[in-house]
Amino acid sequence: MKISTFIISILKLSNMKWEGRRQSKNVDDRRGMGTKGGIAAGGGLVVIIVLLLQFFGGETGKQLAPIVEQFGNAPVQTTSQRELTAEEKKYGEFMATVLADTEDVWHKLFKQYNLGTYKEPTMVLFTDAVRSGCGNASASMGPFYCPADHKLYMDLAFFDELVTRFGAKGGDFAMAYVTAHEVAHHVQTLLGTSQKVNQLQRQTNKVEGNKLSVALELQADFYAGVWAHHNRKYLEEGDIEEALSAANAVGDDAIQGKFSGEVRPDTFTHGTSEQRMYWFMKGYKTGDLNQGDTFSEILN
Ligand SMILES: [Zn+2]
Repeated sequence: MKISTFIISILKLSNMKWEGRRQSKNVDDRRGMGTKGGIAAGGGLVVIIVLLLQFFGGETGKQLAPIVEQFGNAPVQTTSQRELTAEEKKYGEFMATVLADTEDVWHKLFKQYNLGTYKEPTMVLFTDAVRSGCGNASASMGPFYCPADHKLYMDLAFFDELVTRFGAKGGDFAMAYVTAHEVAHHVQTLLGTSQKVNQLQRQTNKVEGNKLSVALELQADFYAGVWAHHNRKYLEEGDIEEALSAANAVGDDAIQGKFSGEVRPDTFTHGTSEQRMYWFMKGYKTGDLNQGDTFSEILN
């Protein structure tokens, strides 16, 4: 399915109440900017280390050996800007509304839990390829958060893949869930959790390191659920099912089973479908940040 067709179909499915509400100003829309000649900067082989496996889990085969990605050596060139279509504009408005919702909820929660001031992240919308503070990325990597520049990188293609390749139901709230998950990595960075995990991973072996990654990812799912809880006045019937369907589709066991035919729990970096759904629902039901200690559960 072409992406434009896909966007039209999700907007038709759309039931989350979002139109006419506040849109975040922290959106850097790079979709109209074409790129050509590959996606690495300035010549030479660029090795990209994406900190902490911040991927949502959008990659397919590459998913199994992530962290370090290598790209070719042609420079990024921004070509002439093209007009966005009406559908693309609508999609951007939807994403800006979801981001605004995360800002409202996280400002409130940071105050409520005495966590200091919430610093809002920027959301970069892109297609094909993008340059980030963590290196250059292609859309096939899926959405990700870069702790170095405090930006979420969201590509359109991933939402298409979520439905066509991963078998999720799709729908607007699935996209909101993915966004909330990436915002959760931003929260983990503001709170120092990501940095602690990163440090521990450097001191331990691969299997234990993967467990830490799973705990971090499941906590991000939990935070996404907490966000949904505090945003529930805008949700409608079916929204939570869409989020669960997305969480289910991107579990490590589901992805591995689908693409390699073999499921190896010691290589998991994001958690099983069941775990992802469990933690999202726990956050959604409780709405309580203190219930999200995935680390004691996963590491013991
Ligand atoms: Zn993640």
